[in-house]
Amino acid sequence: MKKVLITGAAGFLGSHLSDRFIAEGFHVIGMDNLITGSMDNIAHLMPRKEFEFYYHDVSKFVHVPGELDYILHFASPASPIDYLKMPIQTLKVGSLGTHNLLGLAKAKNARMLIASTSEVYGDPLEHPQQENYWGNVNPVGPRGVYDEAKRFQEAMTMAYHTFHNLETRIVRIFNTYGPRMRLNDGRVLPAFFSQAIRGQGLTVFGDGSQTRSFCYVDDLVEGIYRLLMSDYAQPVNIGNQDETTIMQFAEEILELVGNPDAHLDRRPLPVDDPKVRQPDITRAREILDWSPKISREEGLRRTLPYFRDAVARADAKKN
Ligand code: NAD
Ligand code: UDP
Repeated sequence: MKKVLITGAAGFLGSHLSDRFIAEGFHVIGMDNLITGSMDNIAHLMPRKEFEFYYHDVSKFVHVPGELDYILHFASPASPIDYLKMPIQTLKVGSLGTHNLLGLAKAKNARMLIASTSEVYGDPLEHPQQENYWGNVNPVGPRGVYDEAKRFQEAMTMAYHTFHNLETRIVRIFNTYGPRMRLNDGRVLPAFFSQAIRGQGLTVFGDGSQTRSFCYVDDLVEGIYRLLMSDYAQPVNIGNQDETTIMQFAEEILELVGNPDAHLDRRPLPVDDPKVRQPDITRAREILDWSPKISREEGLRRTLPYFRDAVARADAKKN
């Protein structure tokens, strides 16, 4: 049985990846310090003998006994609210955490995939973003802690590939959504869904003309699985090309949720908020034969029941 270590396993993407690797017949070691994740996301895996959980901060030395075939490094605060609250942890997990895991991969002769991000392109001056675009990042702005940690993570990973011949993979993930996102993580989809369900104002930042391209989690997981199994070490964008303005997105959610009390509530645009974002996925199509299959309409429909339930549970706890 092949063994995979997944860091950030109690988070949104890490838990979906854990499910996928178990379904593929792997033994999964999930590692997490729960700073933004939740054991609820992996409660269903805990009784399985193919799954082990290590509570650990990967910015500290990482030890795993026995052999390892693959490492997927997904641990990191990921929403702007989280990384603004935890700037130092964010920088450490991208730098020290990545270094620890690359060292572990080298010691075990394991293949390592890192979760990079469209944020390496910053507020992009090229649109859509191809992998050979170097980006437009403000290193000392509030988002710099995340963007630069991820850029360093890519550089360190490529150095281990080049100088130690380590097998590495770099996925640049564009905005992804689905069940298990934290209700109050501040990202646009959990915010809009919870506000719409509760009949509140949807907090549209700025004039809502900024764009994002949202990918459903199952499509992303498929792309990551294919990339890991490929022999391609350069960065690969994985995301959905269907770009929308945030205002249009708010209106779609209002309509889907159908709560007559919900409405739009304009708020100031955060500093350095990228104005546009859309992946060029030519590379993923050509190398991985991958493209997203689930439309935004379908993905939002699949995600809504999770948020209805999460809101009901959160509100029941408050009362
Ligand atoms: P998430 O917050 O749900 O999950 C991150 C997990 O990492 C959490 O469970 C958290 O507790 C854990 N973690 C953080 N620091 C840690 C540390 N030092 N040691 C151990 N565990 C730690 O976020 P997510 O959306 O699942 O994102 C997962 C990864 O994917 C992140 O690296 C993120 O940068 C990347 N990513 C996500 C998206 C997206 O749209 N979801 C886009 C681009 C990149
Ligand atoms: N956004 C918004 N209202 C919110 C949260 C986010 O209008 O309550 C906007 C945000 O300004 C950005 C977009 O939605 O332009 C996506 O934000 P998110 O935090 O989800 O991810 P980002 O792509 O900025 O990392």
